[in-house]
Amino acid sequence: MVQRFEKPFTQQEPIPETAIERACEILRSGRLHRYNVANGEVSEAALLEEEYAAWQGSQYCLAITSGGQALQIALRAAGMTAGTKVLANAYTLAPVPGAIHAAGGIPVLVEIDENWHTDIDDLRANAEASGARYFLLSHMRGHIADMDAIVAICDELEITLIEDCAHTMGAQWKGTRSGNFGRVACFSTQTYKHINSGEGGLLTTNDSELASRAVVISGSYMNYAAHGAIPSEDVFQQTRLQSPNCSARLDNLRAMLIRAQLPLLEDNVRRWNERYSVLQSGLSSVTGLRLPDRQHHEEFVGSSIQFQANGLGPHVIPEFVEACANRGVEIKWFGADEPYGFTSRFDSWTYLDDIPQLPKTREVLATTCDLRIPLTFSKNDCQEIAAIIGEECERRIGS
Ligand SMILES: *Cc1c(COP(=O)(O)O)cnc(C)c1O
Repeated sequence: MVQRFEKPFTQQEPIPETAIERACEILRSGRLHRYNVANGEVSEAALLEEEYAAWQGSQYCLAITSGGQALQIALRAAGMTAGTKVLANAYTLAPVPGAIHAAGGIPVLVEIDENWHTDIDDLRANAEASGARYFLLSHMRGHIADMDAIVAICDELEITLIEDCAHTMGAQWKGTRSGNFGRVACFSTQTYKHINSGEGGLLTTNDSELASRAVVISGSYMNYAAHGAIPSEDVFQQTRLQSPNCSARLDNLRAMLIRAQLPLLEDNVRRWNERYSVLQSGLSSVTGLRLPDRQHHEEFVGSSIQFQANGLGPHVIPEFVEACANRGVEIKWFGADEPYGFTSRFDSWTYLDDIPQLPKTREVLATTCDLRIPLTFSKNDCQEIAAIIGEECERRIGS
């Protein structure tokens, strides 16, 4: 029996040595601001935009300060104005309703199903009832819903689809990269996502007008031509004076950190999935836990794993989570009434005018448990973690 797991769930891998050396060069140069370049030099931020656009397979890319800022800028650049209703799946992280609110919009929360996917029927019902013409879809914890159905509804009802790919950078659905289904996609390079620059965000699109607006909104002043992966000057001529400056530029130091990690992403996806699969097979044999089969269309990135502790009553789950924590296994429970850590549930966003009941989402989240899978864990560590969870769960069945 494993007594206690000792490694921290928040320990990331080190930044590659070559990037640390390059960071010193950038720091010594003092040229941290993306428009502060020597004559003829292309900034790290612009190079990142070109490289990420090429990797993602999108025409345009904008580097920004955070994933949350990417969402806000995407909404504004897609034409959202104050008072606009925006559909959003209710299982998401607080920056999503926050971005809609900051851009003056009104979130219309949509139910999820038992696999943490957007409930397609509820999406249609809410779209029809509210008349909302924007859908900010977060692929929360990397679970990708039926994109054929979502794209079809969005086309039929003339809804602009914005993808929040904070947990799906590097994932695919039916062979298409997550982020290439909607009009615009947003990514985060915050420490706990798939690339670690501390804070950072990326926005991708094939829409030239949207791209030009996004660049100006990000705070380009009239330096937009210094960006990488942007539309031509004539597009900017139409939009440059019509877009507010919301100051969210990425600096060269962080841009370089992202550039240094992008070539590692594909291999890291493979490493995450190896660890995920050890945890998945360990946990799926535990009585009392439900791990949904993932759709075979989904090539996900297993940087975290979710399960439902539905063999334990809701009154037993807090004790189970605590017992795991005492043995070094940090489980986030989405059923807690008080938000803690990074976890938050839709009913804690009380600044929203009216929060719907969403009984289905509430029921699913009441038993939803979530584990980070840092790459500093070995496959053996994942086995130990599954064993601890299994013991603590099974000894509480029927209590
Ligand atoms: C992390 C996250 C964001 C925002 O990213 P930041 O870079 O932290 O602003 C948005 N959506 C989801 C689902 C996230 O998990």
